Amino acid sequence: MTMNVEFYYRKKIPVVILGATGLVGQKFVQLLDGHPWFVIESLVASEKSVGKTYEEATDWQMSIPIPEEIATMRVEPCKPDIDATIAFSALDSSVAWEIEEEFAKVGYAVVSNTSSHRMDPMVPLVIPEVNNRHFKLIENQGYHEHGFIVTNPNCAVIALAMALKPVYDQFGIEAVQVATMQAISGAGNQKEVKLEVDDNIIPFIEEEEEKIEKEPLKILGILTKETFTSAEFSISAQCNRVPVSEGHMENISMKLGEAATKQDIIDLWSNFKGEPQGLQLPTAPQHPIHYFHQDEFPQPKKQRDIEKGMAVSIGRLRECSNFDWKFSILSHNTIRGAAGCAILNAELLVKQGYIYW
Ligand code: NAP
Repeated sequence: MTMNVEFYYRKKIPVVILGATGLVGQKFVQLLDGHPWFVIESLVASEKSVGKTYEEATDWQMSIPIPEEIATMRVEPCKPDIDATIAFSALDSSVAWEIEEEFAKVGYAVVSNTSSHRMDPMVPLVIPEVNNRHFKLIENQGYHEHGFIVTNPNCAVIALAMALKPVYDQFGIEAVQVATMQAISGAGNQKEVKLEVDDNIIPFIEEEEEKIEKEPLKILGILTKETFTSAEFSISAQCNRVPVSEGHMENISMKLGEAATKQDIIDLWSNFKGEPQGLQLPTAPQHPIHYFHQDEFPQPKKQRDIEKGMAVSIGRLRECSNFDWKFSILSHNTIRGAAGCAILNAELLVKQGYIYW
């Protein structure tokens, strides 16, 4: 692939949003509006939305108005003949597998949020600060000279893997127990879900526990020239839908491979940085992890928007009577946990020369 070191002297990179009318699609629209490198060229959704203006087709849920020039754009059919280089995918997972492959095969850089290809051994499952070395897998996908698929993890997994990464590298991890309290914005039809969780908690999110128990092991795995080796420790997850609009909380206990002090772990989190910070990518937070010493933090309402929703907040690190340490984490599920992570992946892919236009 060609390294576009001069990309910033040229015009912006055209992008299409697949599944633009859904909640994650809307977040892509919001975050890409005014992006310094990318410009929305096209919006794609299902047959029922095709031909309508974006404003007509979308039940807009964001806290700011639809950007003016986007509101009047016509939603296009999901065919890979669009004048764009990057296809950000926020498609329903029931249709994403085939559609994402069709786009990759004709040369689009598909940067996806959906679960369809996450565990495909040829597809990188990447959090930019954690495992961007896995982008190398793209080189053997064989879809097209310039076409490929990169995915980002499940919304609850992203914050969990970011919290575990520096601890895993330094001390090793033997077991993790996690209980999630997940916001309603990750749950499809907002009107129905709001009613269900009003004065309520639902102790089941379909297929979520399986994702949380598998995906971090791929993310923390090691890719060499010859092989890919997944991380090996056990994760047990329990997932709950709670009446919070945005921001997933997770209560975690972890058993370490080697002993660590409280200060060791806090220092690792406070100093945690990756390539996006070094390169000062437009969507990168300055500090990917913020540790709070106050007992009552983190809280969705107070911390989810830190660093424009791209930082993970951690607090309440204390000894665990069953495992070694327990703590709470919080992240914005549709920004760091979805569209923001995908956009940061795309920025890094551009810088690393994987995106050609
Ligand atoms: P959603 O609100 O249900 O949106 C789904 C989108 O897919 C809509 O734009 C829909 O278009 C489109 N679509 C459905 N069938 C299609 C087809 N046959 N051809 C073209 N487009 C089609 O879902 P969401 O909450 O935004 O989530 C999108 C994806 O991201 C899902 O796979 C989800 O698992 C994943 N994800 C979500 C979150 C979160 O917090 N919400 C976080 C991480 C990952 P129409 O409007 O025309 O039907």
